[in-house]
Amino acid sequence: MQLSYAEWVCPECKTKNRESCNSWMYGSPIRQCKACRAEYLDRRFREVAIDGFDPRANNAKVYVKGALLLLAIALVCGVMIYFQYAKGYYSMKIVVAGVFSALGAIACGINVLRIKLGFQNKDNDKYMAESKARLSDPLYVEKLRKYGYKV
Ligand SMILES: [Zn+2]
Repeated sequence: MQLSYAEWVCPECKTKNRESCNSWMYGSPIRQCKACRAEYLDRRFREVAIDGFDPRANNAKVYVKGALLLLAIALVCGVMIYFQYAKGYYSMKIVVAGVFSALGAIACGINVLRIKLGFQNKDNDKYMAESKARLSDPLYVEKLRKYGYKV
């Protein structure tokens, strides 16, 4: 799941910054405002070499549960549509809800596969390498220490 966005308002100039990130917000917690170049700390970001990976990220069970739940909703919608259709009408709302639940179930299923097949770990290796590269810069480490990180 790479298509997530982080939004924040710059404390200096109040500009709204928007940046793509992965769903677990792996990256440097020291952000720079695109408008005024001010730097500040955003604890929502995880510097994985220090903070570690989000424990939920590799937990396939969460996604299995999500997939089953969404599949159940999709089935209920399907059954409702079936009976409504037999009476000669159907509710578009239920059709839409059913389609979205089914798509959500598929997305969860894909994540389960990604974790099981080790793709998630490959991504994590990449994030870890990026994080370690950042931490090899003494100036960056100094900044993190100033913000209270134990490096
Ligand atoms: Zn700013």
